[in-house]
Parts: sequence; structure tokens; C-alpha cells
Amino acid sequence: MPRLAIFISVLLFFAPHGQADERLSLHGNYIQGGAIIGQAPPGTRMRLGDLPVMVSQDGLLIFGFDRDHGPSAVLQITYPDGTSEQRLLAIASRQYDIQRIDGLPPSKVTPRTPEEIAHIQRDQAIKRESRKIASRKTWFTETFIWPMTGIITGNFGAQRILNGQPRAPHYGVDIAAPVGADVLAPAGGKVKLAALDMYFEGGLIFLDHGHGFISAFLHLSRIDVAVDDIVKQGQIIAGVGATGRVTGPHLDWRISWLGQQIDPALLAGLMPQPVQAASPMEKLD
Ligand SMILES: [Zn+2]
Repeated sequence: MPRLAIFISVLLFFAPHGQADERLSLHGNYIQGGAIIGQAPPGTRMRLGDLPVMVSQDGLLIFGFDRDHGPSAVLQITYPDGTSEQRLLAIASRQYDIQRIDGLPPSKVTPRTPEEIAHIQRDQAIKRESRKIASRKTWFTETFIWPMTGIITGNFGAQRILNGQPRAPHYGVDIAAPVGADVLAPAGGKVKLAALDMYFEGGLIFLDHGHGFISAFLHLSRIDVAVDDIVKQGQIIAGVGATGRVTGPHLDWRISWLGQQIDPALLAGLMPQPVQAASPMEKLD
């Protein structure tokens, strides 16, 4: 093939609307940590790479791209009439914050006791089990709201370097708030996990917004819902806390889809200005 023809065919392949079948519409953020909501003919089957994309009875679907997703993804679509299509999606990469913490006492990295290891393993089993069956509902089509307002003290994806050692990135958005402040459901969902005694997370809720697109709320002081409850967007589900492994009270809100870590801030958008109560200290000045 002459060079120009190759160039043009590559362009067509990448063009967002090039030869894409109009029966499938997709919108969202084609970026690491982004999510895409779509509409396809009911009965369509779909995969994103190795991951199955659930399509609802109404043809609604959601998928997302991990924090460390590569520059492209292949979406395999089989329509109800048997025709199929492959779309190559270009995924933008991001720069993440780097949080460097030096001078931590070595005790912070000493091996855990057998009891702690058993606790962590128990938690992992509970979390795995809770994610097994995804809800077939489609609350994810609601426009997500912030579960609370406050100062954001940690962004999605931040890379942590403790005493010079790169550690697991931070997958949540941290919002500073006093213990007991209400946490609202950012969209409707089904409660999949509600536990107050997780080793790392402390009080933890998993809320499935449908199709395994799951919000997690960490470090809670209080939980107002139970497993299998259906909650509405804006409903109070918990209170902020400082439980689990934390340095102070805050809400850590995370979202995952089939193991892909999604950035909640991309869904909820700009946070409304937090309401600042006048503090007595200010009146003394
Ligand atoms: Zn956090």
C-alpha cells in the first residue's frame, strides 16, 4: 500500500465518527481514569479488551479506563443481527500528583502480626465476594454528584513515595471533613458491602451503580445502610470518620469497574463551593 493510503486508512480508523456504526453511541472521557456511557441496540454484546461490557435490556452500558491504561483500547461489538464492529479507542494519558513523604519511622514498614495478616485476608475475601454479582440496573446514567463538599486533600491517582520507595498509587479522592459529617449517595445504587471493621478502610461501603460500576466510601464512622439496600441519589448513607489506616478524618471516595480504577472527579465535575460555617475563633479576631 502506498504511504499516503496507509496514512489515510489510519486516520479513518482513529476518526471518532469515521466508519463507526451509528447504532452505538458513546459519550464520556477517553482518558486514563475516565468512564464512557453508551447506548446500543438491546441484545448487543460487547467487550473492551478482555473485559465483558454488560448491556442492559434498554441497551445502556458503561465501561472505563484504568489509571494506568495504555494509549488505546479495542471495543468489540456484536449487534443483535450478528454484524460486528471493532473500534479502536484512543485513551489520553495523564500526569498524576506525586506525594513524597520522607522520614517515616521504619516501624511503619515492619511485617504485620499473624492476626493483622488474617484480618487483611478476611477483608480481601469479603470484598471479592461482594463484587461477584453486578446489579443489572443502570443508576450510572444519573449525573453523579459529590457525596459531600469540603477541601480536596488528595486527588485520584497520586503516586506515593514513602522514604524514597514508590508505593501503590492513591485511587480515591480525599475530602477533608469532620467526623460524623453526612455522606450522600453520588448516584443511586445497590449496597454490596457495609462493614465498620476493615483493616485498611475502617468503615467501608460498596455501592454498585449498576453493571459493577462501584463506588467505595472509606474510613466511615457510621453506616446508615445495609447490604442489599437500594439507595437513591442524594440519600444519606454514612458519616465521615477516621477509621482504618488514616492520619485524620476525611472521606475517601473511589470508583472501580471490573478492577479498573476510575476517577470520581471526572464524573462529579467541579465541586460546589463548600458551605463554611462561621467559627467562633474567627469572631475573636
Ligand atoms: Zn484516601
